[in-house]
Amino acid sequence: MPELATVIRGVDAVLPHNRSKVDLGIGAEGRIAVIAEAGTLTGDAIVEAEGLIALPGAIDLHVHINTFFGGTTTRDDFFAGTSAALFGGTTTVAQFAIPRPGETSLEAVDRTQEEARPAAVCDYVIHGCAVRETYDASLAQFGRLTERGIRTLKVFSAYTDTIGLSLGQIHRLLARAVEAGITIFVHAETDSLVREGIEEAVGRGDLGPHGHAVSRTPLAEDDAIRSIADLARDIDATVYFVHVSAASSVASLAELRARGGRILAETCPHYLFLDASVYDAPGGEQWICSPPIRSAEHRAALWDALEAGVIDTVSSDHNCFDIAQKASRRADFRAVPNGLPGIEHRLPLLVGAAITGRLGWVRLVQLSSETPARILGLWPRKGALVVGADADLVLIDPAGHSNLGVGHMATDYSPYKEMSVSGRIERVYRHGQLVVVENELRAARGSGAWLPVHAAPIIPPWSISATRRGR
Ligand SMILES: [Zn+2]
Repeated sequence: MPELATVIRGVDAVLPHNRSKVDLGIGAEGRIAVIAEAGTLTGDAIVEAEGLIALPGAIDLHVHINTFFGGTTTRDDFFAGTSAALFGGTTTVAQFAIPRPGETSLEAVDRTQEEARPAAVCDYVIHGCAVRETYDASLAQFGRLTERGIRTLKVFSAYTDTIGLSLGQIHRLLARAVEAGITIFVHAETDSLVREGIEEAVGRGDLGPHGHAVSRTPLAEDDAIRSIADLARDIDATVYFVHVSAASSVASLAELRARGGRILAETCPHYLFLDASVYDAPGGEQWICSPPIRSAEHRAALWDALEAGVIDTVSSDHNCFDIAQKASRRADFRAVPNGLPGIEHRLPLLVGAAITGRLGWVRLVQLSSETPARILGLWPRKGALVVGADADLVLIDPAGHSNLGVGHMATDYSPYKEMSVSGRIERVYRHGQLVVVENELRAARGSGAWLPVHAAPIIPPWSISATRRGR
């Protein structure tokens, strides 16, 4: 029996295929050393976890910490952003290194590393991004990006007046990505359709949050998904569609997969737990994000897609703006900074759904950590409670409750107001170290590790066939 630094005893653990009452033994090197029958392990520190549920530390594939976008910079630095992540049970985040004016993809990655290294308290992966201004230079850097451990890269089909790429540019980039072994993340909205929607809303004088919501249609999203998925299939590229929001997109994704596309899809908590009525309330600009939050029918379709396996991950798309930043431009939705804070609330919302029976526990782990780890090529070191994995764990009291107020995020509002959900995070471990307990952070600034990626993604079998349902 290996020497155990910590034993979490009698915990109800969500393992890759089932929930089981076990003892989790953590070795001195910070990995899970043994998973044994409950009540059988001894070690230096024993944590009695009877009645608690253990999940692998959550992985958030989509965050924008300290991000300059649309003329405004989000309020959090890497310490604030990753602290809030840990409080919410997320032990690894993946940050998009969006080039600032004049920067290439590699320069943006370098800058992001400099920002994160001294400050991050959870582990982090960096996604590259290719933007219009430095498109050619960035394309020429693909080899250097993969040498550096950057194997995922994002493009935008919208915002072609600033960072977005044309369909032709995306096609060429996908071909280069296949050669280099890079997975492409896509913000899918057809730019000309979005422009048309915006012109119509502005023409009607509908310049408030409602105008934003109706200007970016489900059709614009669906159209971009279909055309980019077709380009990808043509050259056998793997594409990951970020923040899918609409029922029609989900139907298209199911169809495109059935035709054999290597397609992955993400949605976000705000599309699952809120609806478009937020735009009619005072301060509606606080919910402005792209694509917008849609009606209850779209929300229902997204829930069905989660269960059916058509959507693979739930990520936060965290953008930590505050009330003043949102309000200062509210007279014209085109100028309001896009995005919502949410890095801390993603896992608690999903846990609440599991406790109330809306989502299976195994499926919750797939959506929040296992599939993200597989897509990053980090599984099973991350994303699973298995022997040999990093001991990144979250212990949850299913009888407790979480308040989804501002929490520890560097803002002054929560998109969920004072909503309360079932389940309370009791403890969070990162590499076997207790980093959150009783609402206290015990991680030193800069103690989070950068995770370079040198492996290809492992597409989960259930993401291709969309047949497996975790329960
Ligand atoms: Zn985003």
